[in-house]
Amino acid sequence: MTLKLGLVGLGKIATTQHLPAIAATEGVALAAIASRHARLPDLPGYPDIDTLLANEPEIDAISLCTPPAGRFDQARAALAAGKHVMLEKPPGSSISEVRLLSAMAEARGLTLFASWHSRMAGAVEPARQVLAGRTIRSVAIEWKEDVLRWHPGQEWIWQPGGLGVFDPGINALSIATYILPEGFFVEDADLYFPTNRAAPIAASLRGRTASGLPVTADFDWRQTGPQTWDITIQSDEGPVMLSGGGSHFTVDGYPRVCGEDGEYRKLYSTFVALVGKRASDVDLSPLVHVADAFLLGRHRQVEPFG
Ligand code: NAP
Repeated sequence: MTLKLGLVGLGKIATTQHLPAIAATEGVALAAIASRHARLPDLPGYPDIDTLLANEPEIDAISLCTPPAGRFDQARAALAAGKHVMLEKPPGSSISEVRLLSAMAEARGLTLFASWHSRMAGAVEPARQVLAGRTIRSVAIEWKEDVLRWHPGQEWIWQPGGLGVFDPGINALSIATYILPEGFFVEDADLYFPTNRAAPIAASLRGRTASGLPVTADFDWRQTGPQTWDITIQSDEGPVMLSGGGSHFTVDGYPRVCGEDGEYRKLYSTFVALVGKRASDVDLSPLVHVADAFLLGRHRQVEPFG
């Protein structure tokens, strides 16, 4: 059976990644769009999810590509209408709202998939397998990019619930929480807020694993020139380094062969498989680390942005 999909929020990620991935994935077909300003030719388009749900009863599933703040009501409406739901990352703007969605999906026998696209990058699974056999000593995350290059004109990222620099930073945390053999927690953080913004432009996190090994993360949205999306894990056997957001990795200084590219195609095949099993996948651990950074972090003011 092919899943008839409704997509909500036809913005940057929906256009550049979701549409081509849906078209290239077996078992799912785009049937309708809901977006306030955008439409697709030859496909029914509605201004919001409620109108889509009312007019397209045949739809099986909804993919939410809207910003995290406000997604709860959309997901709740979809689940209430009996639809399976796939959430862009981060799955929501708070932990409790996603827990409620999870319980709702379970009670109705529906699939809820909180997707983490960076976990599907080609080097992530092979790196996880290498690390499973190593004695780890430390973990250092460096995720530094130019916000003007990657988020031009996006105001929601600066609003409460938009996460600021944690919008990309949570991608690094989604990889780290997947590849490290033991869990870690944030102990201390500095969050750098532009004086005219409600969300941080940079953040430094310090924490440790359950067995006491240091974990650091430096996120910065002010990096021009070459962009940095690296995770370096020192181990007794030598360093394991993921770069390019998880697309490449080296082991003891030597490049390793990575898995297949195509993060979003893998997300959609995972969603189709989850729906087939009526199973859900809602791992909140990356969002928990972000919430802990906001709980524990010192707020520091930096120069205005923009
Ligand atoms: P975006 O370009 O701003 O697109 C989001 C779309 O959602 C908008 O075009 C808008 O379409 C709709 N929308 C509904 N309510 C909105 C609101 N209150 N504020 C703004 N837009 C609203 O954002 P995006 O970059 O695609 O990001 C969407 C989600 O994907 C985020 O959770 C983000 O973290 C995730 N993501 C983004 C990237 C990336 O590189 N950009 C990569 C991976 C994941 P209408 O105005 O037509 O309703």
